[in-house]
Amino acid sequence: MSSETTSDSAMSMFEVHPSSHPRTLAERTAALEHLAFGTVFSDHMAHAVWTPDAGWHDQRVEAYAPISLDPAAAVLHYAQEIFEGLKAYRHADGSVWAFRPEANAARFAASAHRLALPELPAAQFLGSIEALVATDLEWVPGSAGSSLYLRPFMFASEPFLGVRPSKQVDYLLIASPSGPYFTSGFQPVSIWVAEDYHRAGPGGTGAAKCGGNYAASLLPQQQAIENGCAQVCFLDAATNTYLEELGGMNVFIVTDDGEVHTPALTGTILEGVTRRSILQLLADDGRRVNERQISLAEITEQIASGRITEVFACGTAAVVTPVGALKSTGFDLTVGDGVAGAVTQWLYQHLTDLQYGRVEDPYGWMRRLA
Ligand SMILES: *Cc1c(COP(=O)(O)O)cnc(C)c1O
Repeated sequence: MSSETTSDSAMSMFEVHPSSHPRTLAERTAALEHLAFGTVFSDHMAHAVWTPDAGWHDQRVEAYAPISLDPAAAVLHYAQEIFEGLKAYRHADGSVWAFRPEANAARFAASAHRLALPELPAAQFLGSIEALVATDLEWVPGSAGSSLYLRPFMFASEPFLGVRPSKQVDYLLIASPSGPYFTSGFQPVSIWVAEDYHRAGPGGTGAAKCGGNYAASLLPQQQAIENGCAQVCFLDAATNTYLEELGGMNVFIVTDDGEVHTPALTGTILEGVTRRSILQLLADDGRRVNERQISLAEITEQIASGRITEVFACGTAAVVTPVGALKSTGFDLTVGDGVAGAVTQWLYQHLTDLQYGRVEDPYGWMRRLA
């Protein structure tokens, strides 16, 4: 199994100040028993502060606790905030691994740049993950399909109402044990295509992972739910013609010739680590993959004709989610026979086999944390 060595120097940047009130074994066992997503948090968090003069400093792992913010903190007014999402997986031998965390570190830096936030060096991003996971190792669940979800984020904490980049920034990393996304097998979801709303425009923040993009997606997401769909899919803001992505997942289609297609990165789509990995796995499997503009008209016509055999969405949380139906005001289409297709299932299996260490990792994608 390939891996990079744990960077001790990066890790030691985050000094561990153990919690004075960690949960008992019984409390932790109970908390790990019925895992949902994002409701339970481990005993510690990693924290660092940035100011223009001192740069990044005060790196530490400390007790998970509410934070105190001045009501004038810039993030509360102008949403200068970014985040990441990745998982720590426990392998059968007890070791704990992250999937391509260097890609998350690079994306975090790119998001920081777009939001005029200071970049956190990759060594510190990875160091915070190593230090927190080492401290809260017992919070990495071992049951099938479960993992420790890691949420790094950074926000403007300076108390100042003027509009300019904050001169004080906080970086935090919290960890949430989570269960398998699909509790009863692979369940296809219905997707609602947003008609009146977009998540990102040309030159905007669509390619950055920032909370503001999610805020903009909540109303159309609510409309998707009102229309019996689990997720919303956005079209491009400039022409309202081309498929972009869901609120927090990238989207793929499979055609009856076995080729796979996904919207090209035009600056308004968030480039998922899962998306990138899927493109590689498919290409290495000898499949033709097309990153191109895909119009809604093409999709609806070809789902109806049977030319499109599978649609799926992908992201760290759910890995790969089959899309069984595509709906909007003017159409209600079942994809294929409405169940997960062969390519979707193969990708789910292959990716999770890599992440849980059930197969060799020829790419060096897994990084050992503990
Ligand atoms: C995080 C995210 C994704 C998926 O990215 P992964 O790295 O695969 O988890 C896709 N779209 C948006 C808008 C996202 O925020």
